[in-house]
Amino acid sequence: MAERPYIVGNWKMHGTRAMLSEARAIDRAAQRNMRVEVAVAPPFTLIHAVHREVEQIAVGAQDCHTATEGAHTGDISAAMVADAGAKFVILGHSERRENHAESNSVVREKAEAALEAGLNLIICCGESAETRDKGKAESFVLQQLRASLPEIENPAERLTVAYEPIWAIGTGNTATPDDVAAMHAKIRGLLVELFGEEAGAAIRILYGGSVKPDNARELMALPDVDGALVGGASLSADSFMGIALAAAEAAD
Ligand code: PEP
Repeated sequence: MAERPYIVGNWKMHGTRAMLSEARAIDRAAQRNMRVEVAVAPPFTLIHAVHREVEQIAVGAQDCHTATEGAHTGDISAAMVADAGAKFVILGHSERRENHAESNSVVREKAEAALEAGLNLIICCGESAETRDKGKAESFVLQQLRASLPEIENPAERLTVAYEPIWAIGTGNTATPDDVAAMHAKIRGLLVELFGEEAGAAIRILYGGSVKPDNARELMALPDVDGALVGGASLSADSFMGIALAAAEAAD
């Protein structure tokens, strides 16, 4: 567990301007709980508005295009989300990999574009239930992550990895603490191999998949779990900051 856990809310395709009050409530609670670093990734349409409303928390995007600009109707570039106030982007989420057929190489290209635009990265990885049942979860995740990562300077500052087993996302099923610890240790090993002992040890690895206030403390206390990527429970300030509080307690 990192000294200062990193708790990131992924609002997915949820939220209109009515959600700004929730962003303000999250921000106020984050100001009272400085032992945790808190961030939210609202939909594109709310990035600028949330950025203007908050003082403490960082705002991020949930995707960006590989190109800086051009004839890509409906797409948004990394420079655009940075201009709107985003400081980071979530890339390679399983919903994008599945719903938009994003391959590892597309994720890597998007990551390169994001770095170029000055954004930090949260790169997601995670196996399906079928892959886990076949006993191939670790080899799959390591291969997926290796192929999705860009070349990067200052990886400890600019890169966060999120391990999110697909079968745990939005289902209420979390991975067992033993399985989470085992996977995070493997991911740590890969990061050390790729970026060296010091940077590899400092890159944050988040767990995601049905994290709630009542299971967060146990998950956040595990070795090599430096925080959480939270979907459903990040849509309410109460539940999201309940997770942040549990992470702070786990880090004590
Ligand atoms: C996610 O999609 O990043 C996620 C972790 O969702 P949930 O917390 O709802 O499982």
